Amino acid sequence: MIIMKPTATDSQVDAVIERIQSVGAHAHPSRGEEVTVIGAIGDREHVARLGLEGYDGVDKVVPILKPYKLASRQLKGDTRTVLEIGGRKIGGDHFALIAGPCTVETRDQTLDTADAMLAAGATMFRGGAYKPRTSPYAFQGLGQEGLRLLAEAKERTGLPVVTELMDARDIEAVAEVADVIQIGARNMQNYPLLSEIGRSGIPVLIKRGLSSTLEELIMASEYVLKEGNEAVMLCERGIRTFETAYRFTLDLTAIPVLKEMTHLPIVVDPSHAAGRRALVEPLSLAAAAVGADGIIVETHPEPDEAICDGPQQLRVDAFDAYAIKVEQASVLAGKLPFGAAATQNAAAAQTTA
Ligand code: PEP
Ligand code: MN
Repeated sequence: MIIMKPTATDSQVDAVIERIQSVGAHAHPSRGEEVTVIGAIGDREHVARLGLEGYDGVDKVVPILKPYKLASRQLKGDTRTVLEIGGRKIGGDHFALIAGPCTVETRDQTLDTADAMLAAGATMFRGGAYKPRTSPYAFQGLGQEGLRLLAEAKERTGLPVVTELMDARDIEAVAEVADVIQIGARNMQNYPLLSEIGRSGIPVLIKRGLSSTLEELIMASEYVLKEGNEAVMLCERGIRTFETAYRFTLDLTAIPVLKEMTHLPIVVDPSHAAGRRALVEPLSLAAAAVGADGIIVETHPEPDEAICDGPQQLRVDAFDAYAIKVEQASVLAGKLPFGAAATQNAAAAQTTA
């Protein structure tokens, strides 16, 4: 990690970058408000031998001892990554409420849910077109048709779309609709897929594997960052433990600990951890209060009729109240309001007017 002086000029930064590249290493500059920091990824010995300390504009050269480099908190000092996706921010002071069905089923189900999410003040819309199912005999998602419905939902509401990519062969089709590509828990360690998304430059949400450590999760993000894609979010979605009273154990400790380890935004998925509706709100409030940068939650107009994950999906008609509470919890943890109350109040004022 090469820390430039606050007074360093662009050409001094460029000279350091060129020197790093001249020995076959990769240079990842990140321009902060005060100083520019350049991550040099390559053979440690080669980079050390360059004597970058002596270059004009260089303050100091610090080795990053962690196995993850570009994701490491150290690389950005106190600055946290803030991503702007379709005009909605996440990270730092910004909280995102990402909501929608587990899977895209029908046009009405998709569009009704998207309309309701917009009205409740959610900031992004989720929905799977390609579904990772434990059973090969279970519904695998609508595929291309699902993507088309997501595109329609986006066009109508303006909400950015989060949808899963399972197979690199579908990346072009998914990229046409997705504002954020989701990497499911089961694919967290699919390294060729992660690298491909890294090269695509499309923002990505990486879900923690069922039995993965936090370090393994961050290493997955490193595969995307290494390709030059800095738009990465991590997601805690519950892990396997000995407990069987609920679907997975939501690891809330992971949120403050991940924030010590990385500058990337941290999202929580209470739905897949809970497995049942009654637990989703309390887990969401806890996640927001413990400092999550966002929540990704499942919701359906008629959960009892849902093709998959019905028992855990929030009812769309109960979502307004839920969004307000999540916003309050996130504000309690120091975030700016994401717009649930403002959106709902504006709509109410229009109805009375
Ligand atoms: C999902 O979010 O649709 C999903 C399948 O989650 P996970 O990969 O965490 O199981
Ligand atoms: Mn689901």
